[in-house]
Amino acid sequence: MEEKSLTASILAARAAIAGLTPLREDCGRLCGAACCRSLPGEETGMALYPGERALCEGIPGFSLRETAWGTLLVCGGQCDRETRPLACRVFPLVPLWRDGTIRVAVDAGAKAVCPLRRLSACREDFVEAVRRAGQEIARTEAGVDWLQKLTAQQDELRALRGSAGG
Ligand code: SF4
Ligand code: SF4
Repeated sequence: MEEKSLTASILAARAAIAGLTPLREDCGRLCGAACCRSLPGEETGMALYPGERALCEGIPGFSLRETAWGTLLVCGGQCDRETRPLACRVFPLVPLWRDGTIRVAVDAGAKAVCPLRRLSACREDFVEAVRRAGQEIARTEAGVDWLQKLTAQQDELRALRGSAGG
């Protein structure tokens, strides 16, 4: 039952983003799609949201790694847009869980690679879609737990980098 609701939650979150992107034009042209390029020897991967693992299994070019943090998806830098994980769909933003509600912020890890370093650099309907995606994830207990963990990780990263905001 929980697995079924996790699947429904991640599918609804992905659907909330639909075809929306941070800018009206292809932002990949600004930076050569920097967020899809991994540096040699660096395989950080994208953290999969609860229920998302099953949607990413068996897709050519994707490999899944189990870590202490959770499942990470490592890719070869190219994918079918329909298959990309939620973390890629919302990038460079991230839904955080603060005071029992979703707050959208720029991903602390994005600031090193993405030229869109401020929330206001992204189109408003994209920011709103990321909020709705976060709300869909927060519909399950596992989703809220995961968002809390993500928020703590983002806060740690921000503290390490000495940056404010979020
Ligand atoms: S790094 Fe930022 S600007 Fe470049 S493709 Fe990714 S989201 Fe768009
Ligand atoms: S899964 Fe697709 S969108 Fe995400 S980093 Fe890899 S190539 Fe880019």
